[in-house]
Amino acid sequence: MRLTRYFLPVLKENPAEAQIVSHRYMLRAGMIKQQAAGIYSWLPLGYKVLRRIEQIVHEEQERAGHIPLLMPTLQPADLWRESGRYDDYGQEMLRIKDRQGRDLLYGPTNEEMITDIFRAHVGSYKDLPMTLYHIQWKFRDEMRPRFGVMRGREFLMKDGYNFDLTKEDALHAYNRHLVSYLRTYERMGLQAIPMRADSGPIGGDDTHEFLVLAETGESEVFYDSAVTDISLGAREIDYDDKAQCQGVMEEFTSLYARTDETHDEALFNAIPEARRKSARGIEVGQIFYFGTKYSDAMGANVMTPEGSRVPVHMGSHGIGVSRLLGAIIEASHDDKGIIWPEGVTPFHCGIVNLKQGDADTNAACEGIYKALKLMGLDPLYDDRDERAGAKFATMDLIGLPWRITVGPRGLKNGVVELTSRRTGISEEMTAEAAVARIGQIYEGL
Ligand code: ATP
Ligand code: MG
Repeated sequence: MRLTRYFLPVLKENPAEAQIVSHRYMLRAGMIKQQAAGIYSWLPLGYKVLRRIEQIVHEEQERAGHIPLLMPTLQPADLWRESGRYDDYGQEMLRIKDRQGRDLLYGPTNEEMITDIFRAHVGSYKDLPMTLYHIQWKFRDEMRPRFGVMRGREFLMKDGYNFDLTKEDALHAYNRHLVSYLRTYERMGLQAIPMRADSGPIGGDDTHEFLVLAETGESEVFYDSAVTDISLGAREIDYDDKAQCQGVMEEFTSLYARTDETHDEALFNAIPEARRKSARGIEVGQIFYFGTKYSDAMGANVMTPEGSRVPVHMGSHGIGVSRLLGAIIEASHDDKGIIWPEGVTPFHCGIVNLKQGDADTNAACEGIYKALKLMGLDPLYDDRDERAGAKFATMDLIGLPWRITVGPRGLKNGVVELTSRRTGISEEMTAEAAVARIGQIYEGL
């Protein structure tokens, strides 16, 4: 993309309404525009990151054997009357009447609807295990929408639902989700720690929330600092291997890590003092096992091998897709702007032309731009007629992890400059070498 042809409405001033850094930078970098409290348009740069995050979520869900579908945003109230949640859910639910006077609602989550789909089409243990998921907009009429996309009213969520014959199988689905979530967040450059949590209106006993540690997080958390030393890394996972998934789950959840809702002082104080941490965190996902709560209420049964009918064991599993943009920025920025991890960056590399209009400089920039595109990469070429300082400030604000700077002085010596946004370190090399290096960095991402 050439910046002169793009739509990047960067703000020079700090927007007064933004209280936290991610909200401030998302507004300043022209990623979102608020349309009503907690409701945002996704401008091109924000939309690009949102799609990259969605893509990673899809890839990791499908890798775990989960099946994508798409349910609507509007749901009939009757489904929620069956589960009893139409009355229980309270003010957060946006209730709507259509012209026939029928009650609808804008879905805050989809347990009822997925159970309805399941009971209409699945009747035998032979079809299990099954996990269905979608990435769809949700609406919750939050009391205090704030911090930009972190606590919106309309927000994008991945929600998945497992259907299993036995509790044991459903707990395998729980573990499979836990492992696939760890991989998902790591690919986004995030450390999200699974913590014992409270199940809230979804119901059920087993639940973990995934928290990204950040001062601006809304959750209070308590943990053994040793949990921050574990990562999944590149290890091979066989998602059908119950023992392996359980092993990873235990590895990541045995050390003390809890939100304030389940915090236990006595257990916490048993941790060696130097490792005892309390901090704040951003909830970027949650997994639940809730057994037959919805299948009992809504008649989602399957035939067992012995010929009897039993309600299926279920769980639900959510990732805050739009909230993740805020969480990633909270975890990765400096005083000049965002620093995108390579896994989610909106453009792979920026190209800064220091002397727009100079024939050699223009030609070198064009060459780099085309070579990167030929490799299947997506560069952003700043071809504006602006001074260097303004170009650097824009690149730093929007946070592309790599920048190639091209000017007449370097070209005289046959070199351009490759700069890492994270370290600020620049290296001189030929244009070909810079392109090759960018190619290597993104190989396999
Ligand atoms: P919270 O405690 O933050 O209100 P929740 O526990 O009610 O969230 P879940 O039902 O677990 O939310 O939804 C799954 C994920 O969706 C959450 O982990 C979070 O990342 C995201 N999410 C929930 N509410 C919002 C919101 N208002 N804005 C943006 N993302 C949200
Ligand atoms: Mg939650």
